[in-house]
Amino acid sequence: MKTIFEKSNGTNGITLTENTESIDFLSSNLLRNNKVGLPQVSELEAMRHYKELSDLNFCIEKGFYPLGSCTMKYNPKVNELLAGLEDFNIHPNVPDEKAQGALKLMYKLQDALLKITGMDALTLSPSAGAHGEMTGMMIIRKHFDTIGEKRTKVIIPDSAHGTNPASAKMAGFDIVSIKSNDKGQVDIQALKEVLTPDVAAIMMTNPNTLGIFEENVKEISELMHSNGSLLYYDGANFNAIMGYTNPKLMGFDVVHLNLHKTFSTPHGGGGPGAGVVAVTEQLKEYLPTPTIDFDGKKYYRNYDIKHSIGNVKDFFGNFSVLVKAYAYILMNGKNLKHVSEDAVLNANYLKEKLKGHYELPYNEPCMHEFVLTGEKQKHENGVSTLNIAKALMDSNTHPPTVYFPLIVHEAIMIEPTESESKEVLDDFVSTMIKIADECKNNPENVLSAPHTTPVRKIDEVTAARHPDLNFKEGI
Ligand SMILES: *Cc1c(COP(=O)(O)O)cnc(C)c1O
Repeated sequence: MKTIFEKSNGTNGITLTENTESIDFLSSNLLRNNKVGLPQVSELEAMRHYKELSDLNFCIEKGFYPLGSCTMKYNPKVNELLAGLEDFNIHPNVPDEKAQGALKLMYKLQDALLKITGMDALTLSPSAGAHGEMTGMMIIRKHFDTIGEKRTKVIIPDSAHGTNPASAKMAGFDIVSIKSNDKGQVDIQALKEVLTPDVAAIMMTNPNTLGIFEENVKEISELMHSNGSLLYYDGANFNAIMGYTNPKLMGFDVVHLNLHKTFSTPHGGGGPGAGVVAVTEQLKEYLPTPTIDFDGKKYYRNYDIKHSIGNVKDFFGNFSVLVKAYAYILMNGKNLKHVSEDAVLNANYLKEKLKGHYELPYNEPCMHEFVLTGEKQKHENGVSTLNIAKALMDSNTHPPTVYFPLIVHEAIMIEPTESESKEVLDDFVSTMIKIADECKNNPENVLSAPHTTPVRKIDEVTAARHPDLNFKEGI
């Protein structure tokens, strides 16, 4: 496809007025005196160009998107409309009196999320899951600093998302990694061995990144608390448990939720997101400012938090994501429970259909996602998980998450979400089986995939080592 520069044909797409404003307030060295060099095409040509570009992308609107751990559910379009309402389009510096509607929405969202998580207080500020993790770890650190306990370590299971150790480290902790047991869960014995008085917290994901529920979470919580340590809940997998249990019941002290995953905002490619953090009463005084409060008459931004870790984001978070999350919660109401039910059902259906064709390293009932391995295909047919992922792209399917979690070699991590119908799941099963057969009978075809995408397999090593990010005409 040609770039818009190559399509430039001198047509004037827009007629500017002859009237020029006086710009004598700018000094002459700031004025451009060469031509801008923008492409010249008609409005229709420009529109076709961008439509053509957008058609090259894959998105949930085009096909199945089982990207494990990312919860690529259908994001209701009406939420976009609501987030774009003119009355929500207010400057963040307007005084509280003039922003009562927006503040009320934030307050109500806080309230709903506190009910869903079971926690006692919450900040809407962090702009992503990883940002929430760092905020949560800073809260834990501030807590121990304030009560005068020197605790420097954070325990993290080896199945954790890479952001967990990164966030704990950035908040100033040392990381202690512990192995999972043969059921893919936290190994209690291994935990006991590293549970020294200088441990501040454990960071857990439940269900964990294998899609397996940590059965011993209560025992782990008791162990940690009796050691004076806290528990952090990575809520990226919250789509599995809504209405059935919550992190408070499991014994956690700090929780982040990825609103853009569980509560529907189009994500991927960098945001915007919201990684709200909820805490128990004990940690309330450390939340970042501002929190959104209500004094019985008006809603207001509260900057008066005794031991606050301070601001973690300019103003107070990604407001449009908060609107979408609140709309999604209201839309589902008590049926939020069914969201999790369907997500878990869909994942178990796929797992059962596929486990005869790909190896299933942890053969346990799964929650909202599960992890296969392409080891057999790799060793017997010389076809890697990466090749299988690329082959899926030829069938209008986004590849699952691959090579994560790290504890499964050649991992293929599949999360169908609740949004998909049985027909879509059955199509995916047929495609996966077709690829497994091809690995045996015609591996060349899988190795050379994708065949139908606008860009074929890219040379990832060269792309990473010698990135070429500039447009050069004629290349
Ligand atoms: C997505 C995810 C994160 C990070 O969340 P972001 O919003 O992408 O920063 C952390 N942990 C797990 C398990 C995740 O899936």
